[in-house]
Amino acid sequence: MQNTHGVAHAENTLVDRRLPPDLREAALKEARSLPQIMLSPLSISDVELLAIGAYSPLTGFLTRADYHRVVNEMRLADGNIWSVPITLPVDREQADRIHAGQKVALCEPDDHVLAIMTVEEKFEYDKRREAREVFRTEEDKHPGVARLYQQGEVLLGGPIDVIDLPTNRPFMEFRRTPAETRRVFAERGWKTIVGFQTRNPVHRSHEYIQKVAMEIVDGLLLHPLVGETKSDDIPADVRMKAYQALLENYYPSNRVLLSVFPAAMRYAGPREAIFHALNRKNYGCTHFIVGRDHAGVGNYYGTYDAQKIFENFTPQELGITPLFFENTFFCKKCGTIVSSKTCPHDASYQLAFSGTEVRRRLSAGEALPPEFTRPEVGQVLIDGLKGLPGWQNGDGKK
Ligand SMILES: [Zn+2]
Repeated sequence: MQNTHGVAHAENTLVDRRLPPDLREAALKEARSLPQIMLSPLSISDVELLAIGAYSPLTGFLTRADYHRVVNEMRLADGNIWSVPITLPVDREQADRIHAGQKVALCEPDDHVLAIMTVEEKFEYDKRREAREVFRTEEDKHPGVARLYQQGEVLLGGPIDVIDLPTNRPFMEFRRTPAETRRVFAERGWKTIVGFQTRNPVHRSHEYIQKVAMEIVDGLLLHPLVGETKSDDIPADVRMKAYQALLENYYPSNRVLLSVFPAAMRYAGPREAIFHALNRKNYGCTHFIVGRDHAGVGNYYGTYDAQKIFENFTPQELGITPLFFENTFFCKKCGTIVSSKTCPHDASYQLAFSGTEVRRRLSAGEALPPEFTRPEVGQVLIDGLKGLPGWQNGDGKK
């Protein structure tokens, strides 16, 4: 089927926009004569994810019809589900020098050309409308909305051909493309795989959720997001060490694959939960865990809004089955991790810490109870956060 992005695709077929070596040299030469567009960190990560097929069926940045239908209906123009607009914004001055039909070079700092884009369309868009529909707020206190308001006024849409992946790609040993994770799953004989998205350390309640899911599938893809996040999120290198400490001590190695998801956070809450699920389908997952306030920020989304949004789609059309979990916690009376679905006791038995309290303790070098965080993980966090700005003074705020 030919879709509006100009490339044929069948269901669940991976897009690969990386140019083969024999075409790469010529493209690099051509790129030197094209107008250059300097990419933001968000767009750089989008180029990587488009290149490797994590955003399949997208082959580039959204054109007008796709953009509007994604914003309004969470679908591409051809009807495929897509919840977050993947756009390439430029300022008006730059847009005036580019016309539809021409090619441009997409660059990262130091004039390193990442890709050639064929600009099929350039178009204006309504930022407030996008904010309202995608982020459910027009407030610029929301980090995703703030970024949207700061970006260029014109969008360029069209397919990209990728010459090089971005230079800054930490955690190389944990970077696997969707084709590679699918291959690992096949080699291990896993037929059903649950994906777990995270931008936080895995505490006992997350471990519980993962292991409950692991009881009904063959394997777990622990898939931490390592692209740009808010400055007060725990740095990705500290998180990676914490995941490794957890897996080494508490998970069967033949049932888990730790790999990084090089996306930036958009903080679009419910819409980003759908987006994260679609991405993980491309990585080969059959199931995806959606917990409380997935991809949320502040108080912009209801605790279970990111689960409710899945009611708009069937698992068949999504191509991946969401698994919903309630808030889980250690109950002193039950003596184990539970949720309100499985524990009859009142809140006084709950061992619960607010995010602020967890931060305060880690900043002060105080251990968290083993019922809350595995000691090996807690130690990695305390060591890793020592001396980082905003963490060392123990006021818990940042
Ligand atoms: Zn209980």
